[in-house]
Amino acid sequence: MGSEPRVVIVGGGIGGLFAANALLHHGIRATLFEQAPELGEVGAGVFLTPNGVRHLNRVGLGPAIEQAGARIGAGSQYHRQDGTFVAPILTTDSHGWNAVYGMHRADLVTMLAERLPADAVHTGHRCTGIEQDERCAQVRFANGVTVEADAVVAADGIHSVLQSHVVEPSPPVYSGSVAYRGLVAHERVPSWPTGSSLLWMGEDKHFLVYPVRHGALVNYVGFVPTDEQMKESWSAPGDPAVLAAAFAGWDPRVESLLAQVDQTFRWGLYDREPLPTWTRGRLTLLGDAAHPMLPHLGQGANQSIEDGMALAAVLDRADRSRAGQALLSYERVRRERTSTVQRGARANGRRYDSSYDDLAVRDAEIAASVKFRSWIYDHDTLVEAEAAAR
Ligand SMILES: Cc1cc2nc3c(=O)[nH]c(=O)nc-3n(C[C@H](O)[C@H](O)[C@H](O)COP(=O)(O)OP(=O)(O)OC[C@H]3O[C@@H](n4cnc5c(N)ncnc54)[C@H](O)[C@@H]3O)c2cc1C
Repeated sequence: MGSEPRVVIVGGGIGGLFAANALLHHGIRATLFEQAPELGEVGAGVFLTPNGVRHLNRVGLGPAIEQAGARIGAGSQYHRQDGTFVAPILTTDSHGWNAVYGMHRADLVTMLAERLPADAVHTGHRCTGIEQDERCAQVRFANGVTVEADAVVAADGIHSVLQSHVVEPSPPVYSGSVAYRGLVAHERVPSWPTGSSLLWMGEDKHFLVYPVRHGALVNYVGFVPTDEQMKESWSAPGDPAVLAAAFAGWDPRVESLLAQVDQTFRWGLYDREPLPTWTRGRLTLLGDAAHPMLPHLGQGANQSIEDGMALAAVLDRADRSRAGQALLSYERVRRERTSTVQRGARANGRRYDSSYDDLAVRDAEIAASVKFRSWIYDHDTLVEAEAAAR
């Protein structure tokens, strides 16, 4: 019997897939179980920032991201809804490293999955629960399969089944907004910049645009208030006419882009209060299962990538008998930082939705937020995790 911990990951989203890659990079072969019949993602973008990209580079994905992503840099700007310039958007870390990319989500999932051994990924496995004792954990699936592990990573998203095995679940908090998301072919909006991100802020609404796939596609997200509590969903179809009406009278650049939208889908925006603990025995939480956050800092995916690298670093120094202690070290490295980012994302949403009596105050906060962004972008969780594991 080898001494390397047997690691099971539940959930094959960006969080679970990156964790499997980071573990493999550290010489640990994890087994991943996903409920869907196949891995996949919706047609939408994901914003990658230096704190996530440095770990994607470490597992060897730098060239693939450069090839499939759209690097976002100069000209990225915040505006008021009429197009008045407010501030530049930070697109580097403090050392000037311009590692900010717009990626098609499906491209990122494919490149993460392709690097894993085929027999390490099992689709069509819906986890239903877990039992554990001092010797090992037993993970149960709806299809009758049970798998034994020394460490179990719940990367099963905001509606995590395994979370209730760790902590009293706190209900997801509805933000009162939905995001309309979609992609427009660049050839339909040829004047649109292919290397920058633009954001417009109005009352209760904001609109974000950035390129993906080397600028061949333009990714847009329109954040709109609603009374309707929709279940958090990737694929609820939306009405392009309703979306266009929500932003009528905004900067003509927004209106002209929305005039080209044929298809859109809505996503109910939820987060959760930061959890008091992530780990119980051999089970720990990762990604949205641990810290679902609003998208107003573009950090959900990036923080889950950081989680995966920290987890791999601590498990690398643990043998089977010490897997539980390693998970506690992982939680110590990650929980406070992600809680700060969760709260920061809420605060940023209030800025973007102009919930201010004096917009000059809001604009000044947006300009000053570069300091918080730098704190996010400069962080290297691997350094901290390696120190914690010593
Ligand atoms: C529409 C949308 C757009 C987003 N855009 C951005 C963005 O631009 N930037 C950003 O940083 N973040 C964004 N996020 C958030 C970001 O995608 C997530 O925070 C990040 O991908 C980490 O997710 P995850 O892997 O932890 O969970 P998820 O992506 O939710 O993946 C969880 C996986 O677990 C599987 N699963 C669930 N239950 C079970 C079970 N019982 N058994 C087995 N498998 C199970 C699910 O099928 C799914 O594949 C977005 C989220 C959504 C929903």
